[in-house]
Amino acid sequence: MKLSQRITKIKPSPTLAITMKANALKAQGRSIIGFGAGEPDFDTPDHIKEAAVRAIRAGFTKYTPVGGTDELKDAVIEKLRRDHGLSYKRSEVVASCGAKHTLYNLAQVLFEEGDEVVIPAPYWVSYLDIVVLTGARPVVVPTSEENGFKMTPSQLQEALTDRTRAVILNSPSNPTGAAYTRREIEALAEVVARRDVLVISDDIYEKIIYDGLSFFSIASVGEELKAKTVVVNGVSKAYAMTGWRIGYAAGPEEIIAAVTKLQSQNTSNPTSISQQASVEALRGDQGPVAEMVRRFAERRDVIVKALNDIPGLSCLCPQGAFYVFPRCDGLFGRRAGETVINSSSDFASYLLDEAGVAVVPGADFGNDAYIRLSYATSMEDIVEGTKRIREAVLRLT
Ligand code: PMP
Ligand code: GLU
Repeated sequence: MKLSQRITKIKPSPTLAITMKANALKAQGRSIIGFGAGEPDFDTPDHIKEAAVRAIRAGFTKYTPVGGTDELKDAVIEKLRRDHGLSYKRSEVVASCGAKHTLYNLAQVLFEEGDEVVIPAPYWVSYLDIVVLTGARPVVVPTSEENGFKMTPSQLQEALTDRTRAVILNSPSNPTGAAYTRREIEALAEVVARRDVLVISDDIYEKIIYDGLSFFSIASVGEELKAKTVVVNGVSKAYAMTGWRIGYAAGPEEIIAAVTKLQSQNTSNPTSISQQASVEALRGDQGPVAEMVRRFAERRDVIVKALNDIPGLSCLCPQGAFYVFPRCDGLFGRRAGETVINSSSDFASYLLDEAGVAVVPGADFGNDAYIRLSYATSMEDIVEGTKRIREAVLRLT
């Protein structure tokens, strides 16, 4: 079967692939602890589910406007004003089927062959492939653990060329948990302000931030930056709504109109029922978000300590999101029987096969010296899973 050249240039999402593999092993009866895909283990709060049930009962089950209902757009507008002091019109907001879909649509309407898109590494797995599918070239900027996995203004400056169309920022970060401070964002904004480039600010983890830190959006730096920024967000992470598939973008009217046009020729509107649930998520009681963040913080402390206690592994304490990114290259060259560990993929396979623990290789996020674990899972699994990792590492010679 001949497939398009385009589709051969990308790989399946590794985070989703690993989770599927772990679930298949579980179905065969193996005991697997999953630190794979980043998905809150909490249930969607009841008041949000109720809004969806009300929508179904009221017959709100038909097509809606392609870019989302006015009610959802207004809820997004209110949220961005309340949280970041940003003001947008309805024509500057579009809702899609998850933030991944939002990012995909944005890339399709903005980038093409000859363009460059700056992506700091470690990056979320899908950024690269989403950009590659447009024909544009991802320009990966490697950040270091010493800099807390944050891109410096001079690194950004050096990465920009006449071909650069955009830079993708993600704070707090998947996979490192690094969160930029207001000053750090302002310093990056200064570089952006001098150039004709856009910022795609993926704020999906903005609510999941710890230790009294607060999220600061690059769009809030000033009108000039707001005009160059597309804010991307969604309800998946903050409200434990991964399956509902609602994401959104806010930014310049022309870009939003293009995304809406593209959407009119592929998905049409995002699910009507999920839109109603998302209105409730954004406008209703925010108490459950704070409670989930408190629980994530407890888990973070336990997993970071447990991993740092394993000889050969070390990790920074993440400031946000629900991932830890331990360094594992100290184990490279070691073996267990026939198995030799020479890469993050070797280590991840060893942990899955020998310890029944699913993690994602750092190579998929642009740094082979690390692995990623999601701690959006129960405390029991964190304790048991890190115990298994410890035992498996101690078996290496
Ligand atoms: N951006 C980042 C950084 C993510 O980790 C995710 C997780 N899937 C997404 C975007 C997309 O989330 P969703 O499509 O569920 O809204
Ligand atoms: N964003 C999550 C992760 O990185 C969910 C899976 C995905 O969409 O990639 O694990």
